[in-house]
Amino acid sequence: MAEVAQTKASFSAVCVERCGGICCDPWWGIISYPVVKEGGLENISVFRADVLKGIRARLQRITDAYKTSEAPQRPLFGTPEKYNVIVKDIRATGEVLTINLIAMFAFKCRFLSDDKSCSIHPSITGRDIRPPHCGWLGAPEARQGERGYCRIIDDAGSGDEAAIARAIEAERKASAKSLAEGVASAEEAAQKVVDTIRGWCATNSPNLLPVERPAEPGRNDPCWCGSGSKFKRCHGR
Ligand code: SF4
Ligand code: SF4
Repeated sequence: MAEVAQTKASFSAVCVERCGGICCDPWWGIISYPVVKEGGLENISVFRADVLKGIRARLQRITDAYKTSEAPQRPLFGTPEKYNVIVKDIRATGEVLTINLIAMFAFKCRFLSDDKSCSIHPSITGRDIRPPHCGWLGAPEARQGERGYCRIIDDAGSGDEAAIARAIEAERKASAKSLAEGVASAEEAAQKVVDTIRGWCATNSPNLLPVERPAEPGRNDPCWCGSGSKFKRCHGR
């Protein structure tokens, strides 16, 4: 292992021998996007349907984009194993809610082998038929914040075994946390988002919550307005 840790050029070996393909197992598809809701949460079921539609659209975008470049193309991903849609922040301006969501989908790549290596890695196929993002993974020269940066690869270049182990542990924990917080379907994810926004409104903007109407009294019951008249002769007319 020592020689693996000494050079960044051996990053594929670090991926397989040390890391075990954390970034491909599961592979996290992540998209951030805003949702704007006018008129508060008056119609929760319509809002939930909109959130669900948005989640499904992002999921479709990822599965459409991640295919091999050969002919015919083969998709990398099927149905996600988990859906983790996070409400990053919420803003209320008058009756307009602006919600920023981060949609994360945990995929099992159909090209990930049992030994956690990539079965269509160029070292095996002799050419790169993977979508571009796969080629960026663990770019040895990428700096933090740049495309393809991986802290494990970066630490492997330093040769510091303890730092590599810490980086692997941190990546594992982050992925496991997101998996544990995820749910099994887009519908559940949408419901979680709606519950979070409802809870936020209850604390921060109760005026945006749906108005709870009192149950309608019977026709001969006293009217709810306190007039003393029967409902049918008062507000029930
Ligand atoms: S790029 Fe980084 S996270 Fe991905 S398999 Fe390699 S070492 Fe692991
Ligand atoms: S094709 Fe290979 S590199 Fe890309 S996600 Fe699948 S296993 Fe990972």
